[in-house]
Amino acid sequence: MRCKDVKKLISLYIDGELSFEKRIKLERHINNCPFCRRELEDLKIIIKEIHNLPKIEPPINFIDNLWYRYQEERTVQRNYKRIFFILGLTFALIFIFLLSQKIWIQKSKSQELQTFYEIHSKWKKSFIFEEPFVDFVLYQNK
Ligand SMILES: [Zn+2]
Repeated sequence: MRCKDVKKLISLYIDGELSFEKRIKLERHINNCPFCRRELEDLKIIIKEIHNLPKIEPPINFIDNLWYRYQEERTVQRNYKRIFFILGLTFALIFIFLLSQKIWIQKSKSQELQTFYEIHSKWKKSFIFEEPFVDFVLYQNK
């Protein structure tokens, strides 16, 4: 057994959860290795100190207060999610509205132009306009 293996198994050894075979191997290593022996001693001291600490009783209503704060926290998180959802939806609707306006304006402009060209071509058939005049009219309507 190497030091690395001892470090992994040392807490199981203290808790008495190692198999007989592993326990013998670990003890053999600890008897020959001052570093691991030191680590085992330190760990035993820490555990002893922890057991000597005074026991503290939780305050009355501790669980109730904890549950209340947890619920409060969850409500705040839900509200944030709701606000972000509503904001996102609003921006999406505004974007769709603006896009439809732009498309509608472009469509009505092209319809106006088409109507103008139709009228122009009818005039051209019935009257003889000079080209510079027609160009001038087209230029004015751009
Ligand atoms: Zn060792």
